[in-house]
Amino acid sequence: MLKRLEIVGFKSFARKTLLDFSSAATAIVGPNGSGKSNVAEAFRFALGEQSMKSMRGKRSEDLIWSGSHTTQRSNRASVAIVFDNRKRIFPKLDFEEVSVERAVFRDGSSEYLINGTKVRLRDIQELLASANIGETGHHIISQGEADRILLAHPRERRAMLEDALGLKVFEFKKQEAQRKLEKTQDNVREVEALRREIAPHIRFLQKQVEKIERAEELMRELATLARTYLSVEEAYIATERAAANERRGAANERLTTASAELAAFDERATTDSEGMKRAEAIRQAEREVDRITSERSALGREIGRVEGGLHEAKKRSASVAREPYVKVTREDLSTLREVVEEQSKIVEGETVEPGAVRAALLALRAAVGAFFERYAAPNDDFLAEEEHTVFKLENERVELMKKDEELEGAVERARSSLMKAREAALAHEETGREEKRRILGLAESKAREEGSVVREDGRLRELQMLADELERDRAEVLALAGVAAFSYEPLELAPEERRAQEDRKRQLERLKIRVEEAGGTGEDVRKEYTDATEREAFLMRELEDLSKSAEGLAELIRDLDDELTKTFAEGLAKVNHSFGEYFAIMFGGGGAKLVLEEFDAVEEDEESDEYEEETAGKKKQGKPGIEISVNLPKKRVQSLMQLSGGERALTSIALIFAMSQVNPPPFLILDETDAALDEANSRRYGDMIEELAKRSQLIVISHNRETMSRAGILYGVTMGADGVSKLLSVKFEEAAAVAK
Ligand code: ATP
Repeated sequence: MLKRLEIVGFKSFARKTLLDFSSAATAIVGPNGSGKSNVAEAFRFALGEQSMKSMRGKRSEDLIWSGSHTTQRSNRASVAIVFDNRKRIFPKLDFEEVSVERAVFRDGSSEYLINGTKVRLRDIQELLASANIGETGHHIISQGEADRILLAHPRERRAMLEDALGLKVFEFKKQEAQRKLEKTQDNVREVEALRREIAPHIRFLQKQVEKIERAEELMRELATLARTYLSVEEAYIATERAAANERRGAANERLTTASAELAAFDERATTDSEGMKRAEAIRQAEREVDRITSERSALGREIGRVEGGLHEAKKRSASVAREPYVKVTREDLSTLREVVEEQSKIVEGETVEPGAVRAALLALRAAVGAFFERYAAPNDDFLAEEEHTVFKLENERVELMKKDEELEGAVERARSSLMKAREAALAHEETGREEKRRILGLAESKAREEGSVVREDGRLRELQMLADELERDRAEVLALAGVAAFSYEPLELAPEERRAQEDRKRQLERLKIRVEEAGGTGEDVRKEYTDATEREAFLMRELEDLSKSAEGLAELIRDLDDELTKTFAEGLAKVNHSFGEYFAIMFGGGGAKLVLEEFDAVEEDEESDEYEEETAGKKKQGKPGIEISVNLPKKRVQSLMQLSGGERALTSIALIFAMSQVNPPPFLILDETDAALDEANSRRYGDMIEELAKRSQLIVISHNRETMSRAGILYGVTMGADGVSKLLSVKFEEAAAVAK
């Protein structure tokens, strides 16, 4: 329900002007040029009209009060339409009153307001559509435009019809759905582009991950093999080391014992030197025997000399006493000669034993001595002297004999001690042989044990090398396969286990190389892959969701299309029904109807090859427009163009009324639609106005008294010298005065 119109600064309405619409039909009357049409335009303006032409302007400035010599121009034009919303003709707005307002400024900018709140034009349009107030203005029939619907292009006419049928709501919904669908399709394309974009990266990452998995498989293999290898090797080294240490310990013990025993022998050998002592004793005994023997033999010679001297002395003493004169006998002389010659011969030659020389000299001395004794000594003195010599020699001989006897005893004693020494030496030699055998045995076992110790040391060094190598292996395996390679229990080693080790070691080395080549693990790559696949999955879901919503939207659009088609077909049928009736009333017979245009007849200004599709001789191109087919009583009229001005007005009025019957708009503004009617038709028009007013509020701008007579409220518009339109309520009589 229209409640009122508030106009400020719009066109000739310089001052705030209120029009109250409490009646079903309101007539606006007044002289030409007073500003009546400006009221209809104020409605258009407030409802969001975008065409300046339909508001008789070029620029938006033309809509603003331009001032006169008495009244200053305005900077702002605004019009508000206030609706009664108690019946919720605007279902979305929970207010008793709804005002739709538009203002325009000199800079050309517009403002739209719903109940004083700034909104977009679109919000206004949607709001109006929801109350069946369309923008095509079929409910505002401007002056001179009564037959606009007749002149309109079939497609335009269709738009008017659709508007009248309230299809705008569906159209809006459809457009909304289409916009959403397009957006969704854009999103789909975007997501697909993203997927295409990341696909190679995912493939790359997947390959990397596969590589990593292979590497990890190899690492696991390495760890498994390493566990066996390391545990066996460890056990082997430990067992072998223990055994070697034990053997070495035992050998060392034996070595220590043997060494100690040998040392004891050596000590005895160096401190005692029994053998040497005994040999020395023998040698000493032998020397004693030799010394005493040679002493005795020298003594024997001394005795011989003394005895020889004694014999001579005795002989001389006897001869001295018997013979006073010396007579050298030939015998004595030759004896002397013989001795000298004999002894000389003995000492002749270069090498003569000293003993022989000595013996020779002694013999010579004895011979010379004897000769001297016999011939040289004086008798008496000589005799006494000789006797004394015998005596002396006699004593000497006794002394020597005593000594010889002593020496004989000493030799005997020396010989017996030599014997004893020899016997002792012999006995000693016997015990020495035993010991030697023992020492040899000890030395042998010492050497053997030394060998053992050296061998075991060697073995231990060997094991140490194995242990070092094992350490290196452990470090390498740790680096390549991680701690998993060390998770094994200590092993009891079966000896045959070790044999397989060499083989394992080879495999281990091969695996190590392969693991190294495989390039190790990459948690970051894996993470990246997971992220990427998650993102891909997310995009897939997104795509699914989008596809689903696109499907939903497409379905909604199809449903809306169906709804539109159905509503349109039903509406068209209803409109045609009323159109025919009104037409018959207006023309007192005949008929008229709206028909869907034949495509062949359509100008192909919107032709697009894509949609050019022949179907049963008709081109499917957009929606078919609406043609009007009329059948005047008693006349044969082919074309609308052939109708008279009055006939055209009647036809268009019949159509407008028919259209508003199907889906009555809340209000209908008719600006001098009745201008071309004669009296009889004016009455029929008046009847229809009354009829229409039952369904829609009517605002008629008219000079027709018949029309005025049907209105409940009459407004007179006047314009003074100041050019400002003024509004006043008038009585029918006052109004009729300005009527034709
Ligand atoms: P008719 O009965 O002849 O159709 P009308 O009552 O419908 O006349 P309108 O056409 O509504 O009269 O009024 C036109 C008047 O409005 C003119 O006098 C014009 O000068 C005035 N007018 C239009 N725009 C403006 C404006 N921007 N500022 C001031 N006056 C304006």
